[in-house]
Amino acid sequence: MSNDNTTNKPLLPVYGILLALNVAIFLFDKTIALGVAVGICHAGIVWLSHRWRDRKLLNYTVTAGIALTILGYLLSPSGSAEWMVILNRLLSIGCIIGVATLCHSNRRNEQVLQQYNQQLSETSAQLKTSNEHLHDKNLQLEQFTYMASHDLQSPLRSICGYNELLLETLGDDADPDIRHWLKNSNAVAENMQQLIKDLLRFAKLDQEEQPFEPVDLNQTLALVSQSLSKTIADKNAELSFEDMPVVTAKAAQMQQLLQNLITNGLKYNESSVPQIKISCEPLDANSWQICVADNGIGINSTDQDKIFKPFRRLHNNETYPGNGIGLACCKKIVDIHGGKLWVESDGKNGCRFCFTMQAPSTNP
Ligand code: ADP
Repeated sequence: MSNDNTTNKPLLPVYGILLALNVAIFLFDKTIALGVAVGICHAGIVWLSHRWRDRKLLNYTVTAGIALTILGYLLSPSGSAEWMVILNRLLSIGCIIGVATLCHSNRRNEQVLQQYNQQLSETSAQLKTSNEHLHDKNLQLEQFTYMASHDLQSPLRSICGYNELLLETLGDDADPDIRHWLKNSNAVAENMQQLIKDLLRFAKLDQEEQPFEPVDLNQTLALVSQSLSKTIADKNAELSFEDMPVVTAKAAQMQQLLQNLITNGLKYNESSVPQIKISCEPLDANSWQICVADNGIGINSTDQDKIFKPFRRLHNNETYPGNGIGLACCKKIVDIHGGKLWVESDGKNGCRFCFTMQAPSTNP
C-alpha cells in the first residue's frame, strides 16, 4: 500500500485509532435522530491517507468517508430537526472534499518540488563535471606554461648563442650585410624570449599564491614612482596622485597593475610634458574607483575594447615598442580582484584607465 514504509510506519497506530473512531461515529450517528457525523474526524483520516503517499488510498478513504456520512443519514431514525441533520451531513461531506482537494494540490506541489530538486541535482552534477573539466584544463595550461618556459626558451637561447658565435668567428672583416642579418636575427630571438616570458607571466597570474590583504595604494604608488623614476625624468614627465585609499588586494599584483597603466601613459604620449594623474573616488562603503589619466595620444572609441585582449596592439613595434600583453595582464589582475577595468578617451586628448577595487571590510 505504501511507497515509503519507513516514513509511514509511525502513522499506523494513528490511522487505526482514527479509523475506529470513524466507525464508532458512524454507528452512533445512525442511531440518533439528529445525527452527529463529524466531518473533521473523516477529514483526519483523509489527511492521514494522504500522508501515506498513496493516491489510491486517498481516493478510497474520501469515497468511504462520504459513503459513511450518506449512509449515516439514510439509516438514522427520522427526527424533528431534519434540516439540521442534512446540514450536518453536508458540512461533513464539504469538510472531507475540502481536505481531499488540499491534499491533492499539496501532492502536486510536492511533485513540482521534487522535479525542481531533481533538476537542481542534475544541474549541480553538470556543474561539478564542468568544474572538474575546468580544473583539468587549468592543469594542462599550467603544464603548457612550464613547457613554454623551459622547452621553448632553451632553443631560443641556443639560437642567440650560435649567432654570437658566428659573429665572433666571422670577425670584423665579415660582410657587413651578414653581420647586420645576424644581429637582426639575435634581436628577433631576444624579442621572442621576452614575449614568451610575458606570456608566461600572464598565464601564471591567477595561480599566484599571494594573500589578499589591506594594501595602502599611497605606498604602492611610491614604489611604482621610484621604479619608474628614470623614465619619468627622461621624458620630463610629471606623476601626481591624490591621497589614495587602502584596498583589499594582492600587493604585488596591485603594483604591477598601476605600473603597467602608468608606463603606458608615459609611452603613448607625445606631449612635451607628459602628465599622469592618479585619482580615486569611493563608489560605496565597500568599493573604490581608481583612475590613471594621461595627456597622451588617446584611443579611438572603436579600439577601446580590443586593447584588453592579449597581443592586441594599435601600433607597430617601430612606432611604439611593446608586445601587447600589458593591458591583458591588467584586466586579469582586476578580474582576480573581482573588479572592472575600462578606458575612457575621445581619441585625441589622452585617456583615463579606471578600475574598481574593494575596501578592506569586504572579502574579494
Ligand atoms: P603594449 O604596450 O606592449 O603594446 P598593452 O597591452 O599595454 O601592450 O597595450 C595594448 C595597446 O593599447 C597598445 O599597443 C596601445 O596601442 C594601446 N594603449 C595602451 N595604453 C595606452 C595609452 N595610455 N594611450 C594610448 N594607447 C594606449
